[in-house]
Amino acid sequence: MKYDENNIFAKILRGEIPCKKIYEDDYVLSFEDVNPQKKTHVLVIPKGKYIDLDDFNEKASKDEINGFFRAITLIAKKLNISNLNGNGYRVISNIGEDGGQEVPHLHFHLIGGEKVGKMIQK
Ligand code: 5GP
Repeated sequence: MKYDENNIFAKILRGEIPCKKIYEDDYVLSFEDVNPQKKTHVLVIPKGKYIDLDDFNEKASKDEINGFFRAITLIAKKLNISNLNGNGYRVISNIGEDGGQEVPHLHFHLIGGEKVGKMIQK
């Protein structure tokens, strides 16, 4: 599968579509989800062109992987939802069709600010 240059997160990264930015560095951009499922719902995306977590782990450099995963805790702390300074949160990354992925640019959902509830609804 080829990376789609016109997916919505690619457009956000290029600044063609606005977002409510939470955090940015050399490796990631984080912004509020447009349709929040809980009080806090932000997305973290790598700046590189990766379709999903499997694509990322196969192709990304160690620095990119390190930068991406470390940013998650940094952002959770910034939002006061980390278990280090808050009450915890859930990280979700949907992959492919069965995973229910809608946007084909790797993203992690950070969801919290209140009880998130059961992991999976049947
Ligand atoms: P997925 O189902 O691919 O894991 O999640 C995609 C997420 O992107 C959804 O939670 C959806 O609300 C969010 N989303 C879709 N389009 C936009 C957009 O234009 N801006 C922002 N901030 N979030 C979006």
